[in-house]
Amino acid sequence: SYAYARERAAIPATTKDGITVSVLANVCCNEDTKKAMLNGAKGVGLYRMEQAYLGCVMPPGTDELLNEMRWTLEAAKGRPVIVRLLDIGADKPLPFIRFLAESNPSLGRRGIRLLREYPELLKTHLRAVLELSREFDVRVLVPMVTLPEDVAVVKKCLTELGAELDISPLPRLGAMIETPAAALSARKLAPHVDFLSFGTNDLTQYAFAADRENAAVEQYFDDASDVIFRLMQATHEDVPEMPLSVCGELAGRPEHIPRLLQCGIRTLSVAPALVPMVKEAIRKSTCGKPANKRG
Ligand code: PEP
Ligand code: MG
Repeated sequence: SYAYARERAAIPATTKDGITVSVLANVCCNEDTKKAMLNGAKGVGLYRMEQAYLGCVMPPGTDELLNEMRWTLEAAKGRPVIVRLLDIGADKPLPFIRFLAESNPSLGRRGIRLLREYPELLKTHLRAVLELSREFDVRVLVPMVTLPEDVAVVKKCLTELGAELDISPLPRLGAMIETPAAALSARKLAPHVDFLSFGTNDLTQYAFAADRENAAVEQYFDDASDVIFRLMQATHEDVPEMPLSVCGELAGRPEHIPRLLQCGIRTLSVAPALVPMVKEAIRKSTCGKPANKRG
């Protein structure tokens, strides 16, 4: 029955070998967050800040960002919410940033690379997130990380602004793992972050050099390939104590959940509608070590 399904959705997702896995939701709007909570999500695993920028003619200020996030995340108050800093580049332009033309935007200034060039933009984001942390259990996620400096600059800025705004403890900080370089340098990222989240959509695009939006190279875009699992496994082996999550589409494909768990992933973030099904898939899985690590 409906009531039974709701009740079951709210129960934590524990594997056959007794490991509880957090299932969070990727949300865009207030309705999404409500739906995610009804479906038994433990919190929000990905709020993309792009959401607050789409359609803006003027750059939103701290208060506008804060209000937008507060409204979107409302239903998840008291639960972990992960806010990702703006991930935008020459392919997704904003009217108030004069992008220099790049012949290869997805390999150019995107995500944190762009924010490092516009420190005021980064500061506005972090101020809004810090203010939000007075009311919500917020964590901050940095998009398109490649180098340790990409997270070190955010950590420094967060620490300075946190002191300025008299906020402690600071929100936890995480890096998106979306490039093979980041996946293979987890140990160097580790001193600057509290968790890592695999963005398997971009990780696949960059590992296979296949545009995620281009149907003509679809056969080269295999996000459930052994290549992707081996990158995740390598990250896990490099930083065995680091909390790892997946927030790309792969997290919502039940047939691959056992393999994700074997790679040390203990948090999955998926579309609100997929939460109950993902929890069921976890309940049928075993975390145990794979027979052959290179599997
Ligand atoms: C990803 O790349 O897998 C991801 C979650 O980020 P986005 O889809 O927003 O690029
Ligand atoms: Mg991405």
